[in-house]
Amino acid sequence: MRYISASIVVPVVGNFLKNGVVAIDESGIVKGIYENNDVAILDKEKELYDGVLIPAFVNAHCHIELSHMLDKTEKGVGLPRFLSAVMKRRAADEREILEKITFADELMWKNGIQAVGDHVNTSHSAEVKAHSRIRYHTFVEVMGLNKDELQPRIDSARDTEFYFDANHASITPHAPYSCSKELFKAFKRTVNEDNIFSVHNQESDEENKLFRYREGEFLDFYKEMGFDAEGFKAQARNSVQSYLPHLPKNNRLILVHNTFTSLKDIDFINRQDRDVYYCICPKANLYIEGKLPKILNFIPDKTKMILGTDSLASNDTLSILDEIKVLATHFDHLDFLQLLQWATINGAKALGLEDTIGSIELNKRPGLLLLKGMNNLRIHDRVTMQRIA
Ligand SMILES: [Zn+2]
Repeated sequence: MRYISASIVVPVVGNFLKNGVVAIDESGIVKGIYENNDVAILDKEKELYDGVLIPAFVNAHCHIELSHMLDKTEKGVGLPRFLSAVMKRRAADEREILEKITFADELMWKNGIQAVGDHVNTSHSAEVKAHSRIRYHTFVEVMGLNKDELQPRIDSARDTEFYFDANHASITPHAPYSCSKELFKAFKRTVNEDNIFSVHNQESDEENKLFRYREGEFLDFYKEMGFDAEGFKAQARNSVQSYLPHLPKNNRLILVHNTFTSLKDIDFINRQDRDVYYCICPKANLYIEGKLPKILNFIPDKTKMILGTDSLASNDTLSILDEIKVLATHFDHLDFLQLLQWATINGAKALGLEDTIGSIELNKRPGLLLLKGMNNLRIHDRVTMQRIA
């Protein structure tokens, strides 16, 4: 048994403890949480740390199979041009792809990430995930705009899903601009209720333009890539209001990015009475669009906010702590304890992993991190992190 004591222990669920002690067994399972002067641990030898002890992070959105694309795309060009760059440049030697996946998996572990919601189009990451210390939920993306390719696309996603842990994999529509209405509808017939969806949502205002007016850069993108854009008609409303009614209602849904989601959209989503989580990927948003979501709009849904890094195609590292720092810098009203919930327990719940990770609670195996250089419980740029367990 290890008895780990830190200046402040923040269990996320429950109150924080000054000079608290967390007992974990050899496998990292929490066996006790104690006040500093608890008689039960008076004679135990403790590891003493100067800093804030927290549970490890959940990265709710990544594409680990794109890890070889670090520095391969231009910044600030907007989503349609970013997508076309990724599609043209993602091909690479398979050995290099696998090496970079291994590198990213180790990087995320080192950066204090305990679980990842990871999007794939291929089975490239299956082997690394099967042996990783990180818990993964794999979202196999489906996209398709042409009528005759609907079922083959879904069948092929099912084949890919087969390579991953069946209890922690699901198929998901990729994004509203890459799936036809018919494809969204086809999901209704093919998925069980325990299949979690994770859809890229309103990452660019061009997506809203496409759905509202059938205008904008996505039409150029379709032309350039030879995609059929016939299915898109001007809807006079934003994308999420157009496609959401086509998705089955009882499945949990993670909406990723939400950079151009309006109050009206959120109101629309709330009225649908669904189990929705909002995933924010601040650094990727700044990289691609140079903009952050209107965080204040989402705050009534504090328990539904989660954080992601997106991939190394649109980020220079895979660190949830860095994402927290960006949000804390841009939004004064977000305090550390709130952001920490987004980065841990909320993400664990979204991925269905809250029984074992996301908070320092008895019998969980959350992973433990020490944040150093904090000013009480205030986060700033110079805070560093060390993985303790
Ligand atoms: Zn993404």
